[in-house]
Amino acid sequence: MHICPYFAENLAESSLLNKLLHTSLVENSHHVEVLQQDPSSPLFSIRTFEELHLKKELLRGVYTMGFNRPSKIQANALPILMAHPPQNLIAQSQSGTGKTAAFVLAMLSRVKGAERYPQCLCLAPTYELALQIGHVAEKMGRFCNDIRVTYAVQGNRVSPGTVLEEQIVIGTPGTMLDWCFKRRLLNMRRICMFVLDEADIMIDTQGFSSQSIRIQRALPKNCQMLLFSATFKENLWKFAMQIVSRPIIIKLRQEELTLTNIRQYYFVCRNWEQKYEALCNLYGSITIGQAMIFCQTRRSADWLSVKMIQDGHQVAMLTAELFRDGKEKVLITTNVCARGIDVAQVTIVVNFSLPTNHQKQPDFETYLHRIRRTRRFG
Ligand code: ADP
Repeated sequence: MHICPYFAENLAESSLLNKLLHTSLVENSHHVEVLQQDPSSPLFSIRTFEELHLKKELLRGVYTMGFNRPSKIQANALPILMAHPPQNLIAQSQSGTGKTAAFVLAMLSRVKGAERYPQCLCLAPTYELALQIGHVAEKMGRFCNDIRVTYAVQGNRVSPGTVLEEQIVIGTPGTMLDWCFKRRLLNMRRICMFVLDEADIMIDTQGFSSQSIRIQRALPKNCQMLLFSATFKENLWKFAMQIVSRPIIIKLRQEELTLTNIRQYYFVCRNWEQKYEALCNLYGSITIGQAMIFCQTRRSADWLSVKMIQDGHQVAMLTAELFRDGKEKVLITTNVCARGIDVAQVTIVVNFSLPTNHQKQPDFETYLHRIRRTRRFG
């Protein structure tokens, strides 16, 4: 059996982990709510990608990715994303429901491949998340030979005086601001689509909201503004309205947390040694599916994985991708990535430490999020 330590330190990392773990859509049985301020704009949802009348190279790209029909959020969002004249959109749905694929498709269909200048700007909270979006764009657009993507991220060196020719620029707020205002690598007046992804993480990161707003302010009035988020809290709302004027709003409610089909057990342990022993006993019985072991801190996760390695359990320092593919059986992780990660094969969740909040009080919600991972198999 393998141990796969993976430590998600913050929201952005857990979001990335999520993206790596999801190979298919997360199903959601809730209805999509659509709210609009301008009742004159026509709203409809699509059942097939054909209904979008995409360029044939792009449709081929979509099908080659294995997408047969639009997801729930895509069915409602795509007609808005592709509307003429452009419509502004705020969309919220949990991770894995198809938001990225939706706006990537919109970017690819909106840009003019024959014209060699940036036309879409897309902001993400981290370097890795920006790259992840770019990979989707490159995959989906693989038959659109003239469309190119570039990355406004730290470390991507562009020599002074360069005028960008790529139609799609994906990056983090700081570097994007630099490219737009200080280095003037692109003409912002020619941008026709602005996408802000993972808005909930964006407002959590110092400076990102104001940088994003500064970029947005310099774009033309008729530029299409889009904002996506997995969650929607009060403070996000204020930010979203600053970025996107007169939006259509789409919301897909998160699945309720339930405890049906989950059996819970506990071991009484007096100290770390006993805990470890209990875990090793259990470890011997984890034969089907996969296990996730939750620790409270990165340090204790580290301690645990080192100890298990020392005791001869076969260990590999690997990424979430291998866990997802079923090659690794045990994922040791800390609190933060408890939410939203859905791995179909997880049959056992071990709370090596029970979750607590900053005041050291029990954190019930996180506990539910953790154990929910086993739901599918009971
Ligand atoms: P989100 O941005 O909401 O987290 P993604 O766009 O990353 O969701 O989609 C989650 C997963 O589902 C990805 O692996 C993606 O390739 C896949 N996916 C997206 N749209 C479809 C679709 N229409 N049909 C099948 N799979 C899809």
